[in-house]
Amino acid sequence: MKLELHGLSVRYGRGRNLMTAVDGIDLAVPAGATVGLVGESGCGKSTVARAVVGLVPTSGGRILLDGVDVTANRVRNRPEFRRRVQMVFQDPYASLNPRMSIQAILKEAAARADGSRPRRAPAEMAELVGLPATVLGRYPHQLSGGQRQRIAIARALAVNPGVIVLDEVTSALDVSVQGSVLNLLRDLQREMNVSYVFISHDLSTVRYMSDTVSVMYLGRIVETARTEDLFARPQHPYTTGLIDSVPRLHAPRTTAPLAGDLPDPRRPPTGCRLSPRCPVGPLHRPDREICHTTDPQSIAAQKVHEAACHFAVDAAHAVVPAP
Ligand code: ADP
Ligand code: MG
Repeated sequence: MKLELHGLSVRYGRGRNLMTAVDGIDLAVPAGATVGLVGESGCGKSTVARAVVGLVPTSGGRILLDGVDVTANRVRNRPEFRRRVQMVFQDPYASLNPRMSIQAILKEAAARADGSRPRRAPAEMAELVGLPATVLGRYPHQLSGGQRQRIAIARALAVNPGVIVLDEVTSALDVSVQGSVLNLLRDLQREMNVSYVFISHDLSTVRYMSDTVSVMYLGRIVETARTEDLFARPQHPYTTGLIDSVPRLHAPRTTAPLAGDLPDPRRPPTGCRLSPRCPVGPLHRPDREICHTTDPQSIAAQKVHEAACHFAVDAAHAVVPAP
């Protein structure tokens, strides 16, 4: 299924604590494709995920599924919506009922599937995610982290969804099993023609999984591009900074590193939100007053990669090609 977000906003809190965690983002996930969402912890990625699946109300913008507006919370609470869009979390232990056997967990998920497609038996689902039928009699705590995450994926797929939101699904796993879970997800996508929103703070996994990548900073998407283009020719200084922070990914550094930490999202900087930290902004180039005064978000669509930066070309530099 095709998923589109148009100007999606989500707010938390009220009064002095009012915070716009997601501030008018656009995202388009074509049917059967993977769109990656990457950015530092706290930039709003999980909030996007929760809004898409209806766990938090939206405060602006629209969510479309195959062109149909599903923005209203009451729509996303309906069983037929819940079926179409599934989510897998970082910690499957928290989302799998500890008192249910794996068999019962998968059976319950299959019972929620759309009646028009054949229901898959628990043993078939286990096999699909590369686990032996012997896991069916076990309980979540009797499985390894990697096995639990495979069950969480099987449970999501058992419902026959059109879209799965994957939020940091390998972040809690040992590095040695991360790759096999990522490969499993890629194989399953080909087999089931399901669309993924692949969320991670880790650039390498996002690069491996995604057709297109959107980079998020303080509730906004600052750059969107085809994965190869984003890594070969990043346009936004924040993207450059993120890539530079992963030694394996970058050529010798050509710009200064990002300064400091994420600002308080309740009081985002004026002008460009990255300006206090930016490697090509007023911190290093005092003449670039515009970065303090003018929000570049509106010019993003005019740039090749949709980079929300007044000086995007300066930020671009060559990056080591993919291995
Ligand atoms: P990420 O997934 O990118 O780490 P989150 O979406 O979890 O980011 O959080 C974005 C911002 O929203 C953070 O500043 C976080 O502290 C805040 N936040 C998240 N959930 C809530 C909530 N339920 N109430 C208030 N603030 C929240
Ligand atoms: Mg998160």
